[in-house]
Amino acid sequence: MGEPMAEPGGKRGGRRKCEERWKLPERAFRRAATSALTYEVMRWGLALRRVFGLSRHSLEAASLLAEFGLGQVGMAFGRGRVSGLGRRRPVIWTSAFAPTELLYALDLVPFSPEIASAAIASIGLSGKMLNIAEDHWYARDSCSFHRCAAGAALEGYLPRPDALVAASHLCDGAPKLFGNLARALGAEFYLIDTPWVTGGGAGDARDTRDAGHAGDAEGAEDTEDGGGAFRDALEYYARQLEALAYALAHRFNRRVDMSRFARAIEFSNEARHYAIEVNKLKKRKPCPVLGAEVLGFVAALFWGFGTRDVVRIYKRLYEEVLARAEGRAEARQGWAGKGRIAQGDGDGEGAPERHRLLWMHLKPFYPNGLWRKMEVELGARIVFDEFSRIYWDEMDPERPFESLARKALSHFGYGRIERRIDAALQAVDEYSIDGVIHFSHWGCRQATGGVWAIKEALKARGIPMLVLDGDCVDGRNYSEGQVMTRIEGFLEML
Ligand code: SF4
Repeated sequence: MGEPMAEPGGKRGGRRKCEERWKLPERAFRRAATSALTYEVMRWGLALRRVFGLSRHSLEAASLLAEFGLGQVGMAFGRGRVSGLGRRRPVIWTSAFAPTELLYALDLVPFSPEIASAAIASIGLSGKMLNIAEDHWYARDSCSFHRCAAGAALEGYLPRPDALVAASHLCDGAPKLFGNLARALGAEFYLIDTPWVTGGGAGDARDTRDAGHAGDAEGAEDTEDGGGAFRDALEYYARQLEALAYALAHRFNRRVDMSRFARAIEFSNEARHYAIEVNKLKKRKPCPVLGAEVLGFVAALFWGFGTRDVVRIYKRLYEEVLARAEGRAEARQGWAGKGRIAQGDGDGEGAPERHRLLWMHLKPFYPNGLWRKMEVELGARIVFDEFSRIYWDEMDPERPFESLARKALSHFGYGRIERRIDAALQAVDEYSIDGVIHFSHWGCRQATGGVWAIKEALKARGIPMLVLDGDCVDGRNYSEGQVMTRIEGFLEML
């Protein structure tokens, strides 16, 4: 990954002409896009639409999630940066898998540039940001979540960070991006180093206890060396988190108040509970919720755990999915608005459920018609997706650092590829999956590196897998016709 050489807003020669169509002149757009007021107005607008039943989201929980995101961005851009006590609330950029519970416990404002990239893609502006990053020598074979965030940051479209925290957990690119941006933006950079545990690793997916989660960290201790390597890794990780908490507290004049840490962990546990219950409901036939409706909840996972808001979001999601599963009348109210995607269980709103698919890795976030064609018209339902897996055990509020370390090391993508394979096979069994689509996001080594080993393991169990090459953020080369041709061919084979 190249190194940005300019300050945010700076220009370099040879910048390609922006291909996006702008609805507002760029200066006015920039002013609006970086104003806390914009996000507050949008948040209130969404909330009002939701309250009056005018939401375009088919699930109220999705609307709550969008409101949460807008609130966080507004906060990062300035709203509420002066708290009731008159203290400024510093903005901390966090990479995926960095422990947000820790930051919320310190009353800091986490901001996820990777989720920002997804949001930028969803409004059709990722092409512009990617062009900017590439003009700053970010190579096109690096992850577009990072390139898009780099472009937006360097152009001044993201809230300025007071510090950046990246975990070298799963993703090799994040620490490098965050290090680069910390230098370019003049903020401090904190790295959480994730040790590589050999001889079994943490969180063996075979040791699951229920439908909703795969990674039992206790199973991890059953390693070839009797669990010593895992315990060392756990200790190493937990001590880093503790040191990080004290370093941030010292840097930003916060207090490490263990009661606040306990509360953040309790919120995290509560959200986890509802997420597991939602996953259990997805086993029903037909599945009461579409993949299109829930794949975006990965934003809650990376950004919201440790808050009361995310408990509310997952609780509402559970209530809505349960109401649908039970066929209750009020569940239909959720299918309101122009943007609705029919459940399609044979009631005339779409094709009945013909195939039950597992989606691996993330989805394309730019506007596309993939979901409607696949799930509604063809009846090929994404019943479960990899990032919905609740892979960690309930945490101990009295031991936040160790609990968060266990959570991190429980991830099925951490360690040997067999762990991810086991998680996929388990999902196949639990959700009655008859086909798997792996969306191989360009530039993501961690997701695509082991894809052929996963395919072979699934094949041995008689489950076909489609490796769909694409990009979650960069829609510049996206061809819906080609993608649908491949998906239709795969579905015919099923
Ligand atoms: S898609 Fe892959 S490379 Fe990109 S941020 Fe996620 S884990 Fe990292």
